Amino acid sequence: MDMSENNISTDNGNDNVESVRILIIGSGPAGLSAALYGARADLAPVVLTGMELGGQVSLTFAVENYPGFPDGIGGMELVDLFQKQAERFGARIEFDLATEVDLSERPYNVKTQNGKQYLAETLIICTGASAIHLNVPGENEFVGRGVSYCATCDGWFFKEKEVIVVGGGDSAVEESIFLTRYADNVTIVHRRDELRAGALLSERAKANPKIGFAWNTVIKEISGNGAVQTVKLQDTQTGEEQDKEIDGVFIFIGHSPNTSLFTNQLDMDDLGYIEVDHLMQTNVPGVFAAGEVADSHFRQVITSAGMGAAAAIQANHFLEEQPLETD
Ligand code: NAP
Repeated sequence: MDMSENNISTDNGNDNVESVRILIIGSGPAGLSAALYGARADLAPVVLTGMELGGQVSLTFAVENYPGFPDGIGGMELVDLFQKQAERFGARIEFDLATEVDLSERPYNVKTQNGKQYLAETLIICTGASAIHLNVPGENEFVGRGVSYCATCDGWFFKEKEVIVVGGGDSAVEESIFLTRYADNVTIVHRRDELRAGALLSERAKANPKIGFAWNTVIKEISGNGAVQTVKLQDTQTGEEQDKEIDGVFIFIGHSPNTSLFTNQLDMDDLGYIEVDHLMQTNVPGVFAAGEVADSHFRQVITSAGMGAAAAIQANHFLEEQPLETD
């Protein structure tokens, strides 16, 4: 099947310009679910994957709360299934990155890193969010050399080593448990004396003999010689500082939405998340947003997938109600 058969050709012979009914930016659970629903509506959606196919969940070792998988499923494996299912119905996945977006008129204009230009009748933004950095001295210098934001990616390098995990939320605790597969010792450094993570995960971590806690503690500096060797810890109550020798620092202190492409074009909240209504509509007609880029609250695979499906259903209604003259 020619997966572009349902796309209008207004490329004037230029292979680099393609008109699409639905363009999806981002390939996490929201993007791939939107692709599935868009494809099943016979709209041959095109997905621009972004930097990493599958988004954040692809970096997750095990997903245990996505219905249908009672024994859990690997993050990458789940993404692979999402992708296969969307492609089966005619979605096209492009390993490319949107670099410029113009929402001033329909069709919306999206340029990519590979030099393509898409003229999109509707756009579904699923660009997700990225890890927040601590912004302490040494952090940037040692990224990939002891500082990491992804236990699944880098845990293996810390076999029989000692690592610190920063944060007290579900991510920090879940990834700490995962890291005990490799590291001899994991210290969760948390700025308060109480975890934010859910009860089940917290109990599991507290019961794990390889996990220790440094309560009311923050990192002031990361240092080393080519690789991380020491962190400077500070007690938030006494102000006392101490150096701790360490092999790795994993940072899980939350995420910020990837919305810079849409600045001054779409309404966003104070934290930069795209504002959508219950139909996933942004303030620009025909532009929808789904998943973590538009949700600072739930941030689950299932909620993102649901938002993606809803956005595609609504994009389909929109195309029926407000076709472009070329339709
Ligand atoms: P989060 O819930 O926002 O937790 C961030 C943690 O980092 C908090 O403990 C926070 O401390 C700490 N923190 C923030 N800024 C900091 C800073 N500058 N210095 C030191 N510590 C800092 O983020 P998350 O753990 O990534 O989770 C995000 C969402 O995904 C949540 O809704 C979570 O439930 C969900 N999630 C669920 C699962 C699961 O269900 N298995 C797994 C992962 C994530 P405070 O507590 O003091 O604010």
